[in-house]
Amino acid sequence: MNSQKTVLSVHSTGSQHWVGDGFPVRNLFPSNGVNNQISPFLMLDYAGPTAFEPSDRPRGVEEHPHRGFETVTIAYQGSVDHRDSAGNSGTINPGDVQWMTAASGVVHEEKHGREFTRAGGVFEMVQLWVNLPKKDKMSAPRYQGLLNEQIPVIRLAPGAQARVIAGELNGERGPAKTFTPVHVYDLKLEAGASADLPLPAGFNSGLVLLRGNIAINGSQVLRGEAQLALLSPAGDRVAISANEESIILVLSGEPINEPVASYGPFVMNTREELQQAVRDYQAGKMGHLN
Ligand code: MN
Repeated sequence: MNSQKTVLSVHSTGSQHWVGDGFPVRNLFPSNGVNNQISPFLMLDYAGPTAFEPSDRPRGVEEHPHRGFETVTIAYQGSVDHRDSAGNSGTINPGDVQWMTAASGVVHEEKHGREFTRAGGVFEMVQLWVNLPKKDKMSAPRYQGLLNEQIPVIRLAPGAQARVIAGELNGERGPAKTFTPVHVYDLKLEAGASADLPLPAGFNSGLVLLRGNIAINGSQVLRGEAQLALLSPAGDRVAISANEESIILVLSGEPINEPVASYGPFVMNTREELQQAVRDYQAGKMGHLN
């Protein structure tokens, strides 16, 4: 049966803060009180767009740990250098995505890219946190540096295109390997374009409008910057029409129905596991950067 997902709620920026000295972010969740409604997604920060002056010293976040989930960085403008205690490193540029599985634990740093730092310019990224099921939280860390050219582009309708970062859309698979079924699409609609987007029934879903003006299912309007619409698990598609050029990040995932215990950079199932994470980090068990 074919039916539209309904809009459960809409949200503007919940909190605004700097992550280190490189990432001025607008948080869309969990700061809006949006938690279980969008499992397996835990957090979304929209950094910028912000102009940075040329500099000699890369801005960003110094080494810090993560355990129990994945950090996904989607680059729109500017670049990020990453290196971690599992020995992975890389630079992501506009169009690229870094899908980092912290799992049992990594220590990493996230800095503006060297060339971007020297030249200055506009910086714009999204960082999304994706939860792991209990059985995978203590698995080995993994790093996927996904390049723009690896990400398939689907034409949904005239003036409407989707880049499939993770999951599947109209028979095309995105390059990201995930632990649970997750769809992440970077959607762009020209003014006047419409798309009928299939999203699985039973999955939690959200539309993150980075900027633009869209109508969802012909009625609910999102406009401006950094807006979130949560969609019902019921239903298997959503209609989006753009009143002006719009950039939308589409998130859809099978809910992980397990307890969530979080403390800063650690997301586990119980308070005891969080205490263990803090002890393991302090004992150096998540490694160090060289
Ligand atoms: Mn981090």
